[in-house]
Amino acid sequence: MIPGTFDYHRPANISDAIVLLSRLDSDARVIAGGHSLIPMMKLRLAAPSHLVDLAGIPELKGVRLEGSDIIVGAMTTQHEIIANDLLAAHIPILRETSTVIADPQVRYVGTIGGNVANGDPGNDMPALMMALDATYVLSGPKGDRRIAARDYYEGPYTTAARPGEILTAIRIPAPPKPHGYAYEKLKRKVGDYATAAAAVILTVANGKIATCSIGLTNVADTALFAKDAAQAVIGTALDKASLAKASAGAEAITSPAADGRGSAEYRTKMAGVMTARALSRAFARASV
Ligand SMILES: Cc1cc2nc3c(=O)[nH]c(=O)nc-3n(C[C@H](O)[C@H](O)[C@H](O)COP(=O)(O)OP(=O)(O)OC[C@H]3O[C@@H](n4cnc5c(N)ncnc54)[C@H](O)[C@@H]3O)c2cc1C
Repeated sequence: MIPGTFDYHRPANISDAIVLLSRLDSDARVIAGGHSLIPMMKLRLAAPSHLVDLAGIPELKGVRLEGSDIIVGAMTTQHEIIANDLLAAHIPILRETSTVIADPQVRYVGTIGGNVANGDPGNDMPALMMALDATYVLSGPKGDRRIAARDYYEGPYTTAARPGEILTAIRIPAPPKPHGYAYEKLKRKVGDYATAAAAVILTVANGKIATCSIGLTNVADTALFAKDAAQAVIGTALDKASLAKASAGAEAITSPAADGRGSAEYRTKMAGVMTARALSRAFARASV
């Protein structure tokens, strides 16, 4: 339960962090809140020889509006997301999702950047970022580039980030006003990772669903974008048949492992149940 030895670095800006990462060994890792990385180091599942701490870089913090996009700095903590008025006004599902991540102690230091960059299918934010069609901004030795959350996840703890790149911000197109939203998470107890969870964003016009997107958490090797499940409810008033079709569409793309949270069959079924619950709640919210 004691991590291996490492050198600690604390750059003051993004450029210094990038230069450091290019100069150091290939097993150097950035550390944000440390609430995923440090447990992995203690279990010796990760043994970086250098840690580059992003906590001293003010540019990585904060939330701002840029045109119709909301930009969330990678080092913004889950707690700061819950308390942020701009996010509450434009993307309330971010608050709803943050409140079911871990517990207050973890949320005070765990960051949105760490949550999405980690690549753990159990993290709650990646599926939400897929549903919101967010874009990740990465900075590295070759400059900045952007990549859609929907294209970012390649496998467990494997992402499209290249060596030496830092996730600096997340760009989220503000959903239209009004819109419906819900994050439904089944967990065994407060503070647990999801048995299965679903994020839904939708709009309603003339009593029918006009647009819909769905993301799923912890029911495959990566977060999932459930395109067919969303398609099943577009143009409907969310009748029983379309809801069942959406649940089946979500279940069809899952491939969860059996673990302490349940068998693979149970977790697949729960992905369908969470999808139906999230759709129903989002539709009710959009229809008021
Ligand atoms: C008891 C407990 C319960 C938890 N429950 C949940 C839960 O229910 N749901 C959930 O989603 N999470 C949960 N977590 C994880 C928590 O949300 C973490 O804080 C989060 O996953 C990682 O954020 P972090 O800032 O701590 O990142 P770190 O642990 O510092 O980093 C995680 C990984 O991301 C990389 N990284 C971090 N920031 C960047 C960046 N800006 N650019 C590039 N790479 C980066 C690191 O190198 C590392 O590989 C739990 C953690 C604990 C300890």
